[in-house]
Amino acid sequence: MHIQLLPSSFDDSGHANAAQRLTCFLIDDRVSVDAGSIGIALSEAQRRTVRDVIVTHPHMDHIASLPIFVDDLFGELEQPIRIHATQQVIDLLKRDVFNDNVYPRFDELKNERGRVMEYVPFEIGKEFQVAHLTVIAIPVNHIVPTVGLLVSDSKVTVAFSSDTAETEEFWKVASRAPHLEALFIEASFPNSMRGLAEASKHLTPVMLRDELRKLSHNGMDILAVHLKPAYRETVARELTELEMNNLSVMEIGRVYEW
Ligand SMILES: [Zn+2]
Ligand SMILES: [Zn+2]
Repeated sequence: MHIQLLPSSFDDSGHANAAQRLTCFLIDDRVSVDAGSIGIALSEAQRRTVRDVIVTHPHMDHIASLPIFVDDLFGELEQPIRIHATQQVIDLLKRDVFNDNVYPRFDELKNERGRVMEYVPFEIGKEFQVAHLTVIAIPVNHIVPTVGLLVSDSKVTVAFSSDTAETEEFWKVASRAPHLEALFIEASFPNSMRGLAEASKHLTPVMLRDELRKLSHNGMDILAVHLKPAYRETVARELTELEMNNLSVMEIGRVYEW
């Protein structure tokens, strides 16, 4: 399985900026987990192959350029962009984003070949297929309805915490997964800002360490994501100070393979 955290912006020479403002993971150039930068950071080849988007929750940093992505592809789509989410999140996207005010209701629009976007609801705790992947979604502890994900191909499983504070069920399900190779876990704020992390339902490095104690697997790669750009260096240093060999900050733009 190949996984890339897409850049949020680029410097003057076209290189990915190291700061993560938006969240969008790309799996096997085919499926995205969240869509913050999907409309600005895909390569031309990826624009042609990504047709399935899993949305963990409707916060702007996770969906910011999704409307632009669909808009850009409108005339050339030969199949709809499928938005996979819980019905609760779909209802929020319909009400607050694709509502004919912020942007068109693309699920009601067609090009010459058919629909351009469709919502595909999934149920919590039940396996579902997205392209070649098997996915299971587990609610996590964030200030809006949010799911973490376990994603498997025929060989490996990886886990995405999405945005969350302390949570339980996600770690139980992740602990049961065979062949868990990688965990993408958020680390938004530095330890000194624990109050804000708790109020906004995010993790600090120390909170992340405490969460990992709930996971029976060890040895998988743990990649910290969602470091708030303003505190990135401090959070990265505090993660290093946890002295966990398999923990690192995920490099933006790099293609990881498991
Ligand atoms: Zn969020
Ligand atoms: Zn977020």
